[in-house]
Amino acid sequence: MKIKFLGSCNEVGRSAILVDGKILLDYGLRPSDPPEIPLGSGTIFPKSVIVSHAHLDHSGMVPSLMSAGRDMAPDVYMTPITSALTQLLGRDTIKVGKDQGFVFFGEEDIREMDAHTHAVTYGNRIPLDGSSNGDYELELCNAGHIPGSSAVYLRKESENISLFYTGDIKMDVSRLMESASPDEFPAADILLIESTYYDREHRNRKELEREFIDSITETLDSGGNAIVPCFAVGRTQELVMILHSYGLVPYVDGMGLSVFRLFKNHPSFLKDAKALNDAFSDAQFVNSKRRKKALSEPSVIVTTAGMLSGGPVLYYLKKIHEDPRSKVLLTGYQIEGTNGRRLVEEGCVETNGEIVKVNAGVEQYDFSAHAGDSELKELVSRFCRNGTEVVFMVHGEHTEEFAAWARENHGYNAIAPKNGEEFVIE
Ligand SMILES: [Zn+2]
Repeated sequence: MKIKFLGSCNEVGRSAILVDGKILLDYGLRPSDPPEIPLGSGTIFPKSVIVSHAHLDHSGMVPSLMSAGRDMAPDVYMTPITSALTQLLGRDTIKVGKDQGFVFFGEEDIREMDAHTHAVTYGNRIPLDGSSNGDYELELCNAGHIPGSSAVYLRKESENISLFYTGDIKMDVSRLMESASPDEFPAADILLIESTYYDREHRNRKELEREFIDSITETLDSGGNAIVPCFAVGRTQELVMILHSYGLVPYVDGMGLSVFRLFKNHPSFLKDAKALNDAFSDAQFVNSKRRKKALSEPSVIVTTAGMLSGGPVLYYLKKIHEDPRSKVLLTGYQIEGTNGRRLVEEGCVETNGEIVKVNAGVEQYDFSAHAGDSELKELVSRFCRNGTEVVFMVHGEHTEEFAAWARENHGYNAIAPKNGEEFVIE
């Protein structure tokens, strides 16, 4: 089996792994300005694409593969909710591209992607058509990261070899999602594992929630606004559920609302569809006309984008940046090179080309949807105990260290690949 890494090596973003020159595992973009895309874009013509989940760094470039035309366009395999989300986010990428001056694909490519999509449910072994005359089979397993997120098992019959790709994975509990169950994962010869939180543990979730809520309550009591930047997919819904459970009524702005409506149509991918619905029934929705009102009183505002790369959060930041009573409560990991990382490290952000110093409070909370350090290590150990012979560490800023840990402590054959590298595993 040949494995070529086209992105997400020693970085977070633009996941793209090409198997045997014809099967792509994910095809994402890195959400910087302008977005970075996988190596060799425009020269890759896979027969099949398997999408682990809908976040842009895994799915964002899939529509661009459709432009080769109806006969050449690859089959796309993903869960039904990932399919719906990928279309929604693809349309948003077209819109953002119009503002920022980039074009990766058009509306017709999104329709073509839909026409070529095979909806896959968890736990079913299915043949990959098109690419293989039945030589490959595929199984998706719940990855516990966002609704519809999957870890990917791929087996090549003729070489009797299999791989397991975690995508983004979470084993710990959340309000929105059932967590992944590694007990149910099939054994595989090759493991490709995400590394986002290598060397960092997550805090206890209950304590973290309490601290977050206390900070918001304090902000509201002092007359300030609490701005909570969140990813539209997953994080917004999780945070609205948390706020609701503590009796706080947030304003919700940005695409997180459309994503909530889409989640509602796929209740089987949610842990508790009713709890999600109840939380959103109480929330107040904001559009561009009501933003002033949302800020006119002490309030908590959940809004996109999670890493401050665009969206309504920039409006709010511009309005509250000089108010020391107000706060920005970041809710997750801030990728290198993003506006959010700049806020954490330098105390300023860029809005419409202008650098703004933020005197409001800035706090960071780890509501991560990724496995922490010990969970990642346990997953590697578990796979190796079950016969895995090669482990590739991807999707992280410390993949070299993770691979070294696996080699030095356990003697595993572990590799931190570089973008563009190809490996042949027999
Ligand atoms: Zn993700």
